[in-house]
Amino acid sequence: MKYRGRIAPTPTGYLHLGHARTFWFAQERARQNNGTLLYRNEDLDPARCKPEFRASTLEDLRWLGLEWEGEPVSQSERMPEYRAAFETLRASGQLFPCACSRKDIREATTAPHSEDGEPIYPGTCRKNPSTINPQKSTDYNWRFRVPEGEPIEFTDAHFGPQKFIAGKDFGDFPVWQKNGLPAYQLAVVVDDAAMEITEVVRGADLLTSTARQLLLFRALGLTPPAFYHCELMHDENGKRLAKRNDALSLRELRAKGNTPEDLRARWE
Ligand code: GLU
Repeated sequence: MKYRGRIAPTPTGYLHLGHARTFWFAQERARQNNGTLLYRNEDLDPARCKPEFRASTLEDLRWLGLEWEGEPVSQSERMPEYRAAFETLRASGQLFPCACSRKDIREATTAPHSEDGEPIYPGTCRKNPSTINPQKSTDYNWRFRVPEGEPIEFTDAHFGPQKFIAGKDFGDFPVWQKNGLPAYQLAVVVDDAAMEITEVVRGADLLTSTARQLLLFRALGLTPPAFYHCELMHDENGKRLAKRNDALSLRELRAKGNTPEDLRARWE
């Protein structure tokens, strides 16, 4: 099978060095494997995603030296596909409606958070479905019922064997939000399958999400890709790079006179 990779930026701010490095690795993996690299614009959240950041991200990545095949695919144009997957999961009884807010969950849970910082869902609405009025679909999210205690295992091409226990390392997670939008986990699974991605290259902060997504691939009867997670970059104070750290945005670094080679030298 021919290698097909993808880069999938979320246009909520200027691209920073950490993401740029992950995307560069994605290109390297595609090149090493004689494969193709595709571009997906993860613009599902209309409140946070802005056209100017879509444009700046495309421009910054081209400046850095990234090349991808074809036109970018935008998630905001693929709602019917996500809705169909949601309906399939719901019809098969693998989802349940949940009226808990993030605050409710934070307050109800005494259990530790999963490694990616998500509080483990305490099962409030899973155990008490009678509190839900199914007529009022705008009042709740839909969560995926994880198989309690099942080990989810995969071999990461960079970090090696991985193992997460469903219900312990992560809880029942949202796949559809009450605002009518799919959750990140569902959208990427539907897209990676539709785009026939053979390997996903992403940051190590998404390792637990990969385990969640493997459950969705299985539940939807789809073949999962392989995975390569990259180390995260930290600033000089040891803090993880984030979009709000403008000093390390590609824009800023470029304005200060850095060339693409200067930036690539920081991770090569
Ligand atoms: N859109 C995500 C990000 O910018 C990446 C999602 C993924 O690789 O699945 O961090």
